[in-house]
Amino acid sequence: MRKTLGLVLKKQNIGETDRILTIFSPDLGKKRVVVKAVRRPTSKLAGHLDTFMLSQLMLTDHDELPRVTSAVLAEPFEPIRDSLELTQKAFHISKIVERVTLEDVSQRAIFQLTLDAFARLSQGWQWPPIWLYFLNELVNELGLGPNDFACQKCGKKLSEAATWLYDERRLVCETCTPEIADSIQLEKNSVKLLVLLRKSSFMSIHTIKIPDSVAKQIEELLLREITQWFNKPWSTYAGLA
Ligand SMILES: [Zn+2]
Repeated sequence: MRKTLGLVLKKQNIGETDRILTIFSPDLGKKRVVVKAVRRPTSKLAGHLDTFMLSQLMLTDHDELPRVTSAVLAEPFEPIRDSLELTQKAFHISKIVERVTLEDVSQRAIFQLTLDAFARLSQGWQWPPIWLYFLNELVNELGLGPNDFACQKCGKKLSEAATWLYDERRLVCETCTPEIADSIQLEKNSVKLLVLLRKSSFMSIHTIKIPDSVAKQIEELLLREITQWFNKPWSTYAGLA
């Protein structure tokens, strides 16, 4: 038997009463587990294993599809499941987490930033800062994204509008922006916010009213970084309306 925390990312019914869950565990990484008879009305496990619940689990030792033998709810994230709007937002988070994490590889930092994002969603903070902060941390954790805020062609410090050349994965100043380029135009406030996201805690940015245009530029930049190795375009994972 193995004991681990698990955040339920996804559930899928199989057979008459069973269910396969995709959980995210600090120890096991992403893991598919099976829960027997969980859809019977008498199941003691059901109330601890719904989507977006964090539970302490006991698993059998099978490598492939271990069975959940007991589950104790650690954090229900109740406000998320009570609200359709928050549920949809949590799905944006779980969808990208499920895509970037590996089976049977512990990724504690990503586990923690996922929990943090869920907690902030539950606490009712504004969505754009939660989402962008989460994406930025994920990008950081994966070793991606711009981390030098000087023009990567002329070396000038970037304080005005700039351009992210996403194929070259370089940030350049307006003067150095090629005429034809696959790029995201970043307005001055987007450059500022990118720097802030890199340097600040969530609590120091969560009250900022982020203009839509700024949020979308940053979302695209961060998602393009994360999804560049996927077979799906970044927009499949967009979380801003
Ligand atoms: Zn330049």
